[in-house]
Amino acid sequence: MTNLKPANRIQDYLVFGEFGGVNPSITDSSTFTFLSAEKMEEIFEHEIEGCYLYSRHMNPIGSFLANNLARLENTEAAHVTSSGMAAVSCTILDLCSAGDEIISSRTIYGGTYALFQNVLPRFGIKTDFVDILNIEELKSKVTGKTKVIYCETISNPMLELANIPELRKIADACGAKLVVDNTFTPMLITPYNLGAHIVIHSLTKYINGASDAVAGCICADKDFINGLKDVNKGTAMLLGPTLDSLRAASILKNLHTLHIRMVQHSKNAQYIAEKLHELGLRVIYPGLEFHPQHQLMEQFLNPGFGFGGMVTLDVKNDEIAHKLLPLMQENLVGYFAVSLGYYKTLFSNPKHSTSSEIPENIQNEIGMTASIIRFSFGLDMDIERTFDRIKESLKEVGLI
Ligand code: PLP
Repeated sequence: MTNLKPANRIQDYLVFGEFGGVNPSITDSSTFTFLSAEKMEEIFEHEIEGCYLYSRHMNPIGSFLANNLARLENTEAAHVTSSGMAAVSCTILDLCSAGDEIISSRTIYGGTYALFQNVLPRFGIKTDFVDILNIEELKSKVTGKTKVIYCETISNPMLELANIPELRKIADACGAKLVVDNTFTPMLITPYNLGAHIVIHSLTKYINGASDAVAGCICADKDFINGLKDVNKGTAMLLGPTLDSLRAASILKNLHTLHIRMVQHSKNAQYIAEKLHELGLRVIYPGLEFHPQHQLMEQFLNPGFGFGGMVTLDVKNDEIAHKLLPLMQENLVGYFAVSLGYYKTLFSNPKHSTSSEIPENIQNEIGMTASIIRFSFGLDMDIERTFDRIKESLKEVGLI
């Protein structure tokens, strides 16, 4: 683990292209040649730095991207996958077998919730969903079979911050692994430094930042990552979620501007959250002083990146939400679309989209009603202009 800033760790990793290019070359090959039978046998037995076998296992540009992501998250190693969900499923299926149990935050991305709730039980893996802020409840769910404690650094879409150091203590006490999805807060928070064993990202979001690719990654120690790639039993090798080398190359280029983008996403989100609050609306944003985990988040933050680009707004009822979402698109606030981390502003209604998989009773418990709108603020230069457009839209639907 190093004390360098995440962006500097990435900047200091120089990879030259085949002809001295400033970008690594894209190896456009599914398979690789060998000059001796011994070498081929050797690489089938264990990974050899700089040697490649078959692109489903790993390809050079994928390795460079993975190495950079390990640097971002301050872990020894990383592996890239074809989606964020592939990163989640490969990690969980490596850590858990039939009979094992997961304790998961109940406020996680709907796809992850559905995987835990509907798919894993078919393989004998049970999940208890808990309020991740309620440490006592969480402790009460620990059994001798608990193998994973799972959460998102900042939950989706209610923006609650997980107390990673406290969760690590519980994981250590029961011998489980703490797996943290850091998709919402790359650069801002380094979960591994706070105690996570394994850090996952959907690269589809902030890290790529262009909404033109679907990808994921798993960052952890070398043993875990090598295990995922094992030709005989590695889930990332055998389930086949390979990230294509052309995509890996484009994501790698975008990763190098992540530190600048995150500053601007946070700046814009903070501005809008404050303005919406001034209008007397219910806004959830960890950068607002009255957010219940504002101070805890200050302790966790890498300085200079703000509190992130996600803002959740309660527009009071379903009917207003239905009118407001397409209207904001017409008024050029951004796109009415799911996902996040794009350079333009995106907004959607999680209850009817990205969190619709979460059961109704839990949605009610966490306060995720049909009136909740989630914004991912983009890189707008004149955020004041964007706010004026939001305000205009709020007036048109009669909310203010
Ligand atoms: N984790 C979080 C927090 C997400 O928001 C998402 C997708 O929205 C995922 C994981 C899954 O990522 P992907 O869509 O790249 O499979």
